[in-house]
Amino acid sequence: MRLSKYFVPTLRENPSDAEVVSHKLMVRAGMIRKVAAGIYNYLPMGLRVIRKVENIIRKYMNEAGAIEILMPAVVPAELWKESGRWNVYGKELLRFKDRHDRDFCMGPTHEEVVTDIVRNEIKSYKDLPVNLYQIQTKFRDEVRPRFGLMRGREFIMKDAYSFDVDDEGAEKSYGLMRDAYCKIFESCGLKYKVVEADSGAIGGNFSHEFMVTAETGEDFVISCDSCDYAANVEKAPVIDNFEEDDEVEKPIEKIETKNQKTVEEVAKFLNVETKKVVKTMILKAGDEIVAVMIRGDHELNLAKIKNFLNAPFVEFATPEEIVKATNGPLGFSGPIGINVKIYADNAVKKLKNYVVGGNEKDIHLINVNHTRDFKVTAFSDFINAKPGDKCPKCGGTYVITKGIEVGHIFKLGTKYSKSMNATYLDKDGKQQYIVMGCYGIGVGRTAAAAIEQNHDEKGIIWPIQIAPFEVVIIPINTDDEDVVNLSETLYKKLLKKNVEVIIDDRNERAGVKFNDADLVGYPIRVNIGKKTLENGEVEIVIRKTGDKINCKKDDALSEIL
Ligand code: ATP
Ligand code: MG
Ligand code: MG
Ligand code: MG
Repeated sequence: MRLSKYFVPTLRENPSDAEVVSHKLMVRAGMIRKVAAGIYNYLPMGLRVIRKVENIIRKYMNEAGAIEILMPAVVPAELWKESGRWNVYGKELLRFKDRHDRDFCMGPTHEEVVTDIVRNEIKSYKDLPVNLYQIQTKFRDEVRPRFGLMRGREFIMKDAYSFDVDDEGAEKSYGLMRDAYCKIFESCGLKYKVVEADSGAIGGNFSHEFMVTAETGEDFVISCDSCDYAANVEKAPVIDNFEEDDEVEKPIEKIETKNQKTVEEVAKFLNVETKKVVKTMILKAGDEIVAVMIRGDHELNLAKIKNFLNAPFVEFATPEEIVKATNGPLGFSGPIGINVKIYADNAVKKLKNYVVGGNEKDIHLINVNHTRDFKVTAFSDFINAKPGDKCPKCGGTYVITKGIEVGHIFKLGTKYSKSMNATYLDKDGKQQYIVMGCYGIGVGRTAAAAIEQNHDEKGIIWPIQIAPFEVVIIPINTDDEDVVNLSETLYKKLLKKNVEVIIDDRNERAGVKFNDADLVGYPIRVNIGKKTLENGEVEIVIRKTGDKINCKKDDALSEIL
């Protein structure tokens, strides 16, 4: 590729709406441009990276026996009504009507569509197992799209779905995907953790998230400092929570926890994964409800919850509100993660006398989920793991890190095959439900996560596997015939060897070219200039280390290869 004929609009300034480095750099390196909140154009450099990530994904999915298909982005409501998700998915699901007034949505995930394919086409145990995947544009109307491709509304996802005759088969399929995911993220040059995640109420199902460790991550990962155990905060078990309860100042024994529904009960009622309802609690003073706490996804249907809990006031706090109210970062000093409750004013007033740690007047009760604020075991349901807790596996100590969820695998069981009646005939001719799993990877998020882990003050440092180009050739003196000729010759030779090379043949100052090269982050840069060429040499610069190697011009090719 010739940069003079290519389209790479780099910028000096950071975009004003960018908070994280990957977002800033992707915009500045001319890879993406915003069209609307959470909706982006992929410019040529960005698209090349996306395609590379996709191809790595394809390679290992195919190798694991998964088969690529492509499903539509626009999905009829009927399928979603069948599965029961039409009414519970909430506002993240973008719904609209066609000219005949029929309901549709933009698919945020494709369990319904793929289950429909399989129930129509697969009849016998002989047709199973099968794993179908696609790489496709999803739409989720996220409450707070941000961080560029990391949390978009329209984004590219690889989603795969496995179908097996029984649990054992499904677990095997799951294992294959888990291994494939490890290979994929390793090939993308990422440092990641495989983390136990909450899998919902139904027994026998489980789930793992693939977390790229990065300060800018929105997820919290609990891991053990002595063994390989890791889990997301909601999932990690804790032991010995109550004994060290020496910090109780004003225990709230006077408030009884009546009517406390379990997470499973609420999830079942709302017909959502328990993951979406992390914790619930009702605090009552006498017969009066004074507070309701629910941690879960914002997409939960508040009206329904109110009804179910028979609670007058339920509202979610945003992370920003929590930060403000707790006067600190999200994390263990306050309620963890995104979604916490807020109480009606009078409820807060009533509770205030009993609660320690409310550090913002009349708004917020902090640490209500921490044992040290409350004495009672009735809150056992309410405990999350925190740093310093003992690992139940080996007795080591939990530490907490932030992570970016790039992939998520899930053993679904028969949730969708039951609701949508996807069955097969077993060896004895008996009808059985197909056992499913689903497996997602955020393509754009993976690329962004790679930048979060690999950059410096000058720009991106692409892992070579997903770099838009592997090598950039920079002719420094474009008016010097020898420089131009050698640059062109080397460029052509590299092309012949199938190296992904770009030549910066623009009529620009060397400084501009260097800055752009560092910003875009090509792993290898070849500087060809008049001065070094007088000694018959060219300079090779390794982006990652900054190492400079001078080599004879005739050796340049072999040196690069
Ligand atoms: P999150 O917790 O970040 O909202 P999720 O758990 O809702 O993600 P999944 O339903 O597990 O996401 O989807 C599979 C993968 O799709 C995620 O692991 C992530 O890599 C990617 N993904 C999800 N939402 C987005 C988004 N808004 N923008 C970009 N990628 C996303
Ligand atoms: Mg989400
Ligand atoms: Mg998640
Ligand atoms: Mg997930």
